[in-house]
Amino acid sequence: MIHTKKQPISLYNDPWEAHSDVDTYGQLTLSNIEFTTTNLCNMRCSHCAVGYTLQTQDPTPLPMSLITKRLDEIPHLKTLSITGGEPMFSKKSIREVVKPLLRYAYDRGIYVQMNSNLTLPLDRYLDIAEYIDVMHISHNWGTIDTFTSVGFGAMAQKPPLKAREKLYEQMITNARTLSEQGMFVSAETMLNKSTKPYLERIHHEVVHDMKCERHEIHPMYPSDFASQLDVLSLADIKETIHHLLDFRDSATWMLFGTLPIFPCIQNNEDQQLRQRLLNTPNVSLRNDPDGRSRLNVNVFTGNVIVTDFGDETGTISNIKYDKLNDVFDKWLKSPLAQSLNCHCPKYRCLGPNVLVKNMYYPNVDFNQKEIEMHRTQ
Ligand code: SF4
Repeated sequence: MIHTKKQPISLYNDPWEAHSDVDTYGQLTLSNIEFTTTNLCNMRCSHCAVGYTLQTQDPTPLPMSLITKRLDEIPHLKTLSITGGEPMFSKKSIREVVKPLLRYAYDRGIYVQMNSNLTLPLDRYLDIAEYIDVMHISHNWGTIDTFTSVGFGAMAQKPPLKAREKLYEQMITNARTLSEQGMFVSAETMLNKSTKPYLERIHHEVVHDMKCERHEIHPMYPSDFASQLDVLSLADIKETIHHLLDFRDSATWMLFGTLPIFPCIQNNEDQQLRQRLLNTPNVSLRNDPDGRSRLNVNVFTGNVIVTDFGDETGTISNIKYDKLNDVFDKWLKSPLAQSLNCHCPKYRCLGPNVLVKNMYYPNVDFNQKEIEMHRTQ
């Protein structure tokens, strides 16, 4: 197999940006598959998308031959995401699923992101470092107490406090060591009422203690798993983003995703903030990547969901029976996807995802907005 040389991830090369598929192929195109590779984790975060479905033993995964066959059938596959649970927790899963996926991606020149809590022994992460393009970690910990409580919020029998505190230190030193050794570590912070008072501290830790190359900022939306945490109002989100831009370290890439701010919404504050974000060096705005060009596959059941919209759509297919490109085409034709799929090329905007629309713009018809925008462009 010939290895395709990948350009390094940078502000100008973000393979997860959904608009790049539109640039290349003229339409939304399946280019990213996320695999849920384990249900096991050493933590149980209250805000974790899968926190309440975690198990103590993984079932037998589907044969890798079926999984790689389904990947072979996707001609424009560009990125893989590996998520859990904690993908590096189970040695069996690392051996039987994670490493074969990493090798597959390497051989095809596909970018790989792993979603990890980075609290396990460093050796596990060093072992796979050469295959990872983005090590993605959530950092919503305003204080170590938040980590030891919220980070285990969904766990009935928590480890002793000292052990939980040690995991926090391990996360920080792992991130720093991996960053210093050249791994691209990207920390994501959700904007919500819990993180808002601590954003300066969190950013400082991400930049200076963990030495992350990128700090991702996403407003938190009230999907099922996050319903118990406090969502910020639109006004608070905007004020918070201005504040972040005031104190951020200008040498560190800050990526804003899933922002509820669109060129077609006639609101001066929105447009001023949008311009500020666009004009600030080392800042990027990513069209929400989830569900635009991506499907999630569970390696145990084969179930396919539209990433992060699982609450809305449920399982839409299964790789035992269907090719992933067919599943994606069918999803794009569904009434829900059709009601969301607007595109204004002048602004490189692909419209809101379902969570953003339901939360902030339930009565806005974005298809109509698109027509109006195209009239004036
Ligand atoms: S793509 Fe949709 S959300 Fe974006 S500006 Fe156009 S109509 Fe508005």
